[in-house]
Amino acid sequence: MEQNSKIANNLVGEAIAQLLACTEIDTLGNWQSCDTNLPASQIAQLYSFPWNTPAPQSNSSPSNSFPSNSSQSISSEESPNLPPEKITEKITWAKGSQVLWLRQKLLIPTALQTYPLADLSLRLALTWWAASAQIFVDGVLVQEGDLFDAQARILLREKVLPGDTVEVMVRLVSPSHDQGALMRSRCIYELPYSTFENSPDLQLFDLHFMADQLAVYQQYLAEDQLQQLAEITDKIDWDLLGDREQFNLSLDRWYRAVSTLDLPRAIQNHKIHLLGHAHLDMAWLWEVAETWQVAQRTFESVIHLQEDFPELIFCHSTPALYQWIEQHRPDLFQIIHSKVQQGTWELVGGMWIEPEMNLISGESIARQLLYGQQYFLDKFGQTTQIAWLPDTFGFCASLPQFLKLAGINYFVTQKLDWNDTTKFPHPLFWWESADGSRVLSLMSNPIGEGFEPVKIATYGAAWQAKTGLDSHLWLMGVGDHGGGPSRDMLETIRRWQLNSQAPNSFPKEDIITSQNIAFPQLQFTTAIDYLEKINNLETSSKLPVWRDELYLEFHRGCYTTHGDQKYFNRYCEGLLYEVELLAAIATLTTNQNYPQAAITDIWKKVLFNQFHDILPGTSIAEVFATANQDWQAVIKIGKEIWEASWQTIFSKINLPILPQKDAQPIIVFNSLNWQRKGVVSLALPDRILDVSLDIQKADQTWQILDSNGQIIPSQLSISDPNTLLF
Ligand SMILES: [Zn+2]
Repeated sequence: MEQNSKIANNLVGEAIAQLLACTEIDTLGNWQSCDTNLPASQIAQLYSFPWNTPAPQSNSSPSNSFPSNSSQSISSEESPNLPPEKITEKITWAKGSQVLWLRQKLLIPTALQTYPLADLSLRLALTWWAASAQIFVDGVLVQEGDLFDAQARILLREKVLPGDTVEVMVRLVSPSHDQGALMRSRCIYELPYSTFENSPDLQLFDLHFMADQLAVYQQYLAEDQLQQLAEITDKIDWDLLGDREQFNLSLDRWYRAVSTLDLPRAIQNHKIHLLGHAHLDMAWLWEVAETWQVAQRTFESVIHLQEDFPELIFCHSTPALYQWIEQHRPDLFQIIHSKVQQGTWELVGGMWIEPEMNLISGESIARQLLYGQQYFLDKFGQTTQIAWLPDTFGFCASLPQFLKLAGINYFVTQKLDWNDTTKFPHPLFWWESADGSRVLSLMSNPIGEGFEPVKIATYGAAWQAKTGLDSHLWLMGVGDHGGGPSRDMLETIRRWQLNSQAPNSFPKEDIITSQNIAFPQLQFTTAIDYLEKINNLETSSKLPVWRDELYLEFHRGCYTTHGDQKYFNRYCEGLLYEVELLAAIATLTTNQNYPQAAITDIWKKVLFNQFHDILPGTSIAEVFATANQDWQAVIKIGKEIWEASWQTIFSKINLPILPQKDAQPIIVFNSLNWQRKGVVSLALPDRILDVSLDIQKADQTWQILDSNGQIIPSQLSISDPNTLLF
């Protein structure tokens, strides 16, 4: 049986390879390079520069890959399609913001593997590792990207004309901390989006699309079904490839045969819930000031895409970011607000930012939730039920209790999949605190993903194997440095979405329509809708229960890096506790105004610096320079309120009659919620310093008496004679 399954998989695999060979060409080896740092605005001058053929790099530790002795000069008149040196892995160049220009002139062939290409669209799929990427087609800038927006499928021609040429230039800038790389460069011929929009059924005869479908079948079908598929697929008449119409007829026969076996429906019974997402780090390899700009661009991009793709639902977590948008871009905030009301923009998260969760105090966790939920309620009239912490480096065991107390029933992360030693066992589980509080918890797909049908199907099949559920959530959109879903992702979804329109009216075998597409139903959803559906399942109570912390076995250095951030955080947590306590007592005893706005403001500064790349110390140095200014501001304002509150309280204390005429009153206050025993350390006034040079004499000079005039033992500190201990 196993042998038969292997044969079936091989047969289907060969068909996939054949279909891809008709539609894809690896073009990584065709690039020429020029390492001038000429800006994009002077692209026309590039023709006068010498161009090299990059040396191949096939291992994982390349150094600068462009030997100067391999340069070859070309002019714009020469065909730049020089003999490609086979590059099997990637093109790399030096780190440190170094510019690399790449150039390639593509000649559109008449056919691939004899399959005619006329009127198909041509896309160039690129994947890079670069701080900046600019792609020019025939001299025109068509796409930009960076380290996180690191791949693109650039439309080179809507409909190709064999013999036509397309010139592509790419300006890449290496990261400051790492060498740059171009890892993937492939030309893909596929059905034009406009054609398929008008005639959806034609989509079935797109060879690249069909290759992906076969790969999806491989993921979902049982062994016997896969064998049936292999037998049918083996009958595809590849000799007809040279005549598109005739070959389409062969594919038509394939679809009919597959339909009779009901194989597509077996897959269409599954469902994929899609949700647009853009992970937005408040700071990391960039400073906070840049994050505000990135957020604006990301949100505007989503809103723009929703005009053409109204089905797109997007979610975002961070109230600190919404607040910045509200204050600086009220127009944009208003649009987001209306989308939240319409249900196409989902508020998730519930915390002020997505914080580090292992280092912060219980009070800080409570404040993250308090200020986060309060903002959502004040500005949007709703709170969220979902804790959204995809990138936080581990979670304390008491978190479910905090979450439940903040009205949160669900917890979403993906980070534990990063564990380097112990594989976390549950994609879906109840997470329970020691007090019995439970939240339904989801390990989502990795963040930053696009829409790649085969990858999603692979994930879906694995999800079903682990959870028994035939529906799963797919978060989609460029992240870390913002970005979100792209037009190409949404167009690709529409290509695959057709089958979801009427799965119950599956066509008869004599009508081949888009309903024959083998893919799970696709539907945009909100995270809360998806999680509530799972919660309402009868089987949800039987999900595994996790009664422990969720420790991330990775990023371990983050607890010993940038100790200053840890110190400031802990100091400010303690300071703010006392500030609030004393200000509250001052208000209660004297009716003076409670400095609510100032305290909220400094709390929010602390909460912001608890972000999961600031407090752990995982950002660039510039981020900490800014963070330290904020910590200092918190300490300054906090101490001012602290001091002012004390002065107010002192003024209202009725002091007893002093036991001696030169006595000074000292008030000792225990700010903690329990009785304490301990040594009080008292700094002596400046004017006694001369006397205290002789400790023994000074010890006799100073006495501490309680309010009844009884002497309390005291002594000067040996290490600091200006301090009296009692
Ligand atoms: Zn992050």
